[in-house]
Amino acid sequence: MNKGKILSKLPSVDKVLSNYKIEDLLNNYPRQLVLESIREIIELKRKEIINLDEDSLSLFDIKEETLVDDIINSTKNKFQLSIKRVINGTGIVIHTNLGRSKLSPKVKEELIQIGFGYSNLEYNLSKGKRGSRYDHLVDIIKRLTGAEDVLIVNNNAAAVLLVLNTMAKDGEVVVSRGELVEVGGSFRISSIMEIGSGRLVEVGSTNKTHIQDYKDAISENTKAIMKVHTSNYRILGFTESVEIDELKRQEEFKDIPIIEDLGSGVFIDLSKYGLSYEPTVIDSIKKGADVVTFSGDKMLGGPQAGIIVGKKKYIEKMKKNQLTRALRVDKMTIAALEATLRIYLDEEDAIKSIPTLRMITYSIEELEIKATILLSKIIDLNIDAEVEKEKGISQVGGGSMPLERLDTYVITIKPNKFSVSYLEKKLRNSESHIIGRINEDKYILDVRTIEKDEFDFIIKELKDIFN
Ligand SMILES: *Cc1c(COP(=O)(O)O)cnc(C)c1O
Repeated sequence: MNKGKILSKLPSVDKVLSNYKIEDLLNNYPRQLVLESIREIIELKRKEIINLDEDSLSLFDIKEETLVDDIINSTKNKFQLSIKRVINGTGIVIHTNLGRSKLSPKVKEELIQIGFGYSNLEYNLSKGKRGSRYDHLVDIIKRLTGAEDVLIVNNNAAAVLLVLNTMAKDGEVVVSRGELVEVGGSFRISSIMEIGSGRLVEVGSTNKTHIQDYKDAISENTKAIMKVHTSNYRILGFTESVEIDELKRQEEFKDIPIIEDLGSGVFIDLSKYGLSYEPTVIDSIKKGADVVTFSGDKMLGGPQAGIIVGKKKYIEKMKKNQLTRALRVDKMTIAALEATLRIYLDEEDAIKSIPTLRMITYSIEELEIKATILLSKIIDLNIDAEVEKEKGISQVGGGSMPLERLDTYVITIKPNKFSVSYLEKKLRNSESHIIGRINEDKYILDVRTIEKDEFDFIIKELKDIFN
């Protein structure tokens, strides 16, 4: 058979449209998407035929059924969201690429109520007139941090920008060279300063900054001293830095506000749970910081947000800054944040029901039990692979607690008949989108970041791949 003859057997768009499966498809998906898919798949087949060599030509046959199935898949793909839920098997709890913190199931109801309804977002119910969207968070954040006032913006980068733009415009901000942090996505304090249009005055050296260094840098142009919590790295060994309370004690600085970028804001002293001490927001305020900024979706375990707390006179000034309007948060953020913060009123409950805190504080015994359950489920599948439970290390992630080594248990899978990278790719692209990692020739799933109710999805996908 020659190519012309085969090509002439390709069905027309009209012919495909009359197929009963396509008619069914049209009942459920927009006509335009179906038509696009029909044309695409026919064109794909046409190109395939044109590129065939003589030998394969004689064997080639056009099956309408497969053509129709391809069209159905293509239409469904077009209709799917690009953003999808995934299973995090990496053991990195605050994984920025995977959406940082998972919200607590306890905030679900509030999120639905506010997202799907009208709300008093900017309406004062008792007075019957306009209110402020930030008021909803003032009382709870005051209670949790001891601060005088609160402002919420889109993320912590925006918070730092707003603070510097409000407090240091056309002036100087003094920062220690040991704290000139760059966090992921190349957020640098120095670049934010440039946009915020203040001038950065660096003091001290990378490993040591003394109180005298700050004193030497102060001039009539100094608008603030900024402290940055080096959340994603540590300078170890021969080091010295100046704490906020020491800065506050200096007579020379009494009129200079101290700003602190905490990065990952925590409300609970996690050293009680066997982790290393991470400065809490309360401690910063107690030490005398005038303004503190931190993220909502790092160790706090809430939605993406930048939280600014501190002295009322500075926060008031920020509220009047035009930038605030551009950086303002949506009702969904306010609802999710307020509902997450409410959980903190009961610390024990916060550790249990805020996923980020729960996953960071799992005991090794709990993790071993989880790993044993997953292991036995996989072994029951009888797949052609070496499957084992091993000790491993997980990370907090999100540039938080860089030195913390969280002991964990992982499941390792080494396929016998195909490569481990093939397994990784198949699981990643499966319906459940399972994200694990490869170490040498083994596929690794860390049970710390996998929920028990996700085990059966992993089992289903493994079964499909190995069959
Ligand atoms: C993460 C981090 C930021 C940026 O916070 P986002 O919420 O990601 O914008 C800023 N400063 C420090 C010290 C951080 O750790």
